[in-house]
Amino acid sequence: MELTRLTLKEANQGLSTKQFSCRELIQASIDRINSTDSKINAIITKTDSNALDQADKLDQLIMKGHKPTALEGVPVGLKDNLVTQGIKTTAGSKILEPYVPPYTATAVEKLNKAGAITIGKTNCDEFGMGASGENSSYKPTKNPWDLKRVPGGSSSGSAAAVSSGQCLFALGTDTGGSVRQPASFCNLVGLKPTYGRISRYGVIALASSLDQVGVLSRTVDDAAAILQCIAGHDKKDSTSLRKAVPNYTKEITDVSPKLKIGVPKEFFIDGMDKGVEELIKDVIQFYSDSGHEVTEISLPHTAEALAVYYLILTAEASSNLARYDGVRFGLSRDDKAKSLIDFYRQTRAAGFGPEVKRRIMLGTYALSSGYYEAYYLKAQKVRTLIIDDYQKAFKKVDCLITPTAPTPAFKLGEKYEDPLTMYLSDIFTVSANIAGLPAISVPAGLSQGLPVGMQIMGQHYQELQILQLAHLYQQKTKWQKQYPKL
Ligand code: GLN
Repeated sequence: MELTRLTLKEANQGLSTKQFSCRELIQASIDRINSTDSKINAIITKTDSNALDQADKLDQLIMKGHKPTALEGVPVGLKDNLVTQGIKTTAGSKILEPYVPPYTATAVEKLNKAGAITIGKTNCDEFGMGASGENSSYKPTKNPWDLKRVPGGSSSGSAAAVSSGQCLFALGTDTGGSVRQPASFCNLVGLKPTYGRISRYGVIALASSLDQVGVLSRTVDDAAAILQCIAGHDKKDSTSLRKAVPNYTKEITDVSPKLKIGVPKEFFIDGMDKGVEELIKDVIQFYSDSGHEVTEISLPHTAEALAVYYLILTAEASSNLARYDGVRFGLSRDDKAKSLIDFYRQTRAAGFGPEVKRRIMLGTYALSSGYYEAYYLKAQKVRTLIIDDYQKAFKKVDCLITPTAPTPAFKLGEKYEDPLTMYLSDIFTVSANIAGLPAISVPAGLSQGLPVGMQIMGQHYQELQILQLAHLYQQKTKWQKQYPKL
């Protein structure tokens, strides 16, 4: 049995029936990390010995008759912008290289309580700024499907880790597509729930009105079980939703027989990869063959979404990142600083990478007096128009289907020197964050040997419905059963 490719249910079954021990399951992950990570750079910090200790404890309980629950004993990777008490947390940045948090993010705490076992902190673009993994201040992560290509970003390491079998699932964060786009590039499921569904407490903030924790897994079924564990109100995050959390795992198969699915025409653009377009057409055909009503709709402000996103994101990021001053967290550079400002300047010059500096400058500019009205305020107004588009669309249809990204994984270095082209890879994912909607990327086949994802966007709080539709598709198509050769 290939222990590194199990679904959560298979892992649970195997542990419960003592087909393998938790130590064997965790050791298989560690072995996989040891044999692949020098090629893909998915992990920043390994937590092997802790993981094995936890495994042994669970094995002892199982020997005494304990039946493990859904996530118990399962190896998980955590994006390195989720704070973990006692474990170094860098957010992919040199400025946090020495940072060992005194507390744990709520989503991680919930996984810990459920018995999932952390095998490492995963690499990512610095502070989540990027779409390729190349903006990590550590090594760039490579795509297990083709080592010359990027795994997507910014949850680059989480995607590469799950895809290569280093862990059975991972957490990421999605501010503009950072869970869905890497899922699409690595043949995984990537779920970004409704804004506020999962607590942001302990998530190193990028853009607070857009950030949301997300799940990277191989199957939709797994994503539902993980969401079940980490969703829900948290009094430590006042923006977390007070709504009841449905029973995703139980109801995942109860898909309504005839839903109205909208296909927004603005999501089929010039310059899009032909293979992606063909595969998404197949997806649309699949749903209409399954009895759902598919109609073309329009979201007229889609063309403005990327500009709105990059204005709001940079403005919020410039404010969030002001806390890294060398005094409170991580790196501190005061070599002969002449003044306090000089001390800040030295720390930031040494600690932040080029993309972070670029975005702080853009955001500070957009917020500065005299420009605020022209940029930030205007972006907020257009944000309202985009939200309006979605509200109108959801009066006509239940959910939307689009490609997740315009192309499959691109080559390392291909877009690195040209930030604007890099930003274009987020074109189909940012709207869900702007409007706070739940969205999922699901493997939809291969284009020239590379994975392609389709995206389902739902109405606020309707994670269950998009999970149901995605699950239906995955049961019939089985694209998730294709693995990289690595
Ligand atoms: N690629 C997007 C960006 O660079 C998305 C980032 C994210 O979701 N964290 O901003």
